[in-house]
Amino acid sequence: MARRPQHNSNSDNDDIGTYARFDGEQVLRMELSSPEQLKQLEAIVEEHNLDLWSNLRIGNVDVRVPSDKLEAFKAATSTIPSTVMIPNLQDLVPEHAPASLLHTKQQNNWNFTDNSFWHNYHDFETLNNFTEAMVQQYPDLVKRISIGHTYEGREIFGMSIHGFKPKKKKKADLSDHHSWDVDEEEDDDEEVDMEEKNKKFTSWRSWIPGHARRMAKKPSKPKKHPKAIIIHAGQHAREWIGPAVVTYIAKELILGYRNNKKITRLVNQFEFVIVPLLNADGYVYTWETNRMWRKNRQPTSIPLCPGVDPNRSWGYMWNTGGGSSNPCSEGYTGPEAFAAHEAKMMADYISKRKNVIAYLDFHAYAQLWMSPFGEDCSKIPRDDEDIVEASMGAVKALQNVNGKKFTVGSICNVFERTTGNSIDWTYGVANVKYSYFVELRDTGLYGFLLPESEILPSSEETMAAVTYLSNFIRIREKQWGNLD
Ligand SMILES: [Zn+2]
Repeated sequence: MARRPQHNSNSDNDDIGTYARFDGEQVLRMELSSPEQLKQLEAIVEEHNLDLWSNLRIGNVDVRVPSDKLEAFKAATSTIPSTVMIPNLQDLVPEHAPASLLHTKQQNNWNFTDNSFWHNYHDFETLNNFTEAMVQQYPDLVKRISIGHTYEGREIFGMSIHGFKPKKKKKADLSDHHSWDVDEEEDDDEEVDMEEKNKKFTSWRSWIPGHARRMAKKPSKPKKHPKAIIIHAGQHAREWIGPAVVTYIAKELILGYRNNKKITRLVNQFEFVIVPLLNADGYVYTWETNRMWRKNRQPTSIPLCPGVDPNRSWGYMWNTGGGSSNPCSEGYTGPEAFAAHEAKMMADYISKRKNVIAYLDFHAYAQLWMSPFGEDCSKIPRDDEDIVEASMGAVKALQNVNGKKFTVGSICNVFERTTGNSIDWTYGVANVKYSYFVELRDTGLYGFLLPESEILPSSEETMAAVTYLSNFIRIREKQWGNLD
């Protein structure tokens, strides 16, 4: 793929074939307390087309300011309290375009059990090879899937992970057991409050131990495909921790199958669809040309400013707030809903599936576990009780691993009013009940340049949250009669 010059005015210091430098650039945290300060900051950000590292809102806003604009920026915002989060961005960015250490290794020589794969970030090709290795090593459990192709023609690849109990024929059970049939062993270690459950569900399936098992084995049940949990990352190119964490989740599900009771039960129950990199073009660009790139790489109406923000492109109340109509902005919404190819393809995939019960979109940074809606702060999802209860438990499980705290709430309330995001669409249009938008580590010390030493702890804690969440869905949706 030919390298192209980077023309965003945020970073006009890179040329063809060189890795963009950020000497003297700073990331400043502006502490806004009034609408007037918000307007003041908005004006200067627009004037210089500055790169926002968090949304514009009253509260803390992180902004990247190039060295030649620092003086003007500080003068224009002198009345707003601020902290320097990163004093010299170049200190955290590699001198040269990084190369994945494992890129050339034979994929079948990899040993994933020692977790050394998660000691480093990996490029597009290595993540693709990881997926291929999983498919080849565990062909009964893992299937390669393709969501489509990016603007530059890269495959948006993924893994479908689903197990099944071997067929058992019992005298008392003459029903046609399909391979998708679920594991109905007793829920002996559930975090969900069983008493609460008993209060709610007294109808056709009572919760006397063993009753559910008997009910589930009644003959004449139609064959069903499992409900799918879709987990992806990489809508935003520079958020490298996302794809790293998502591949770890895949590895845990695959290697944990038949070795870990809880994982086995979840993988028997659900089909996990793991897509590490939605915006592969942008990701490759961050590896080869500019570490700070966020959007995809498709052309816009301004030839010098390519790229649409995939996560401002989804077609639910599109472009009614929280994005930019300026093609040179990192938050460019595109000219119409689903203009970003990658978002459109993922949406088409979800629509076609029809059986998606959960959707998790991983981003960085801020440590937030968010649910719909971003579009309207007063709009409450009809399933909010279950949605929030699940996310509260997930962040508690996450915190139990390394002590990291994540905030729970709707996008609009804990982040900012943001339209065109993926989960408003998955919930509002595709009826995916458990739709979450997660901002992983950290809270701004390194921001998008999270050190490699944090990949593994971040992955482990996120896996705890995903395990909790999946198990919650398994139990709660059985109560509602929505799962076999
Ligand atoms: Zn993001």
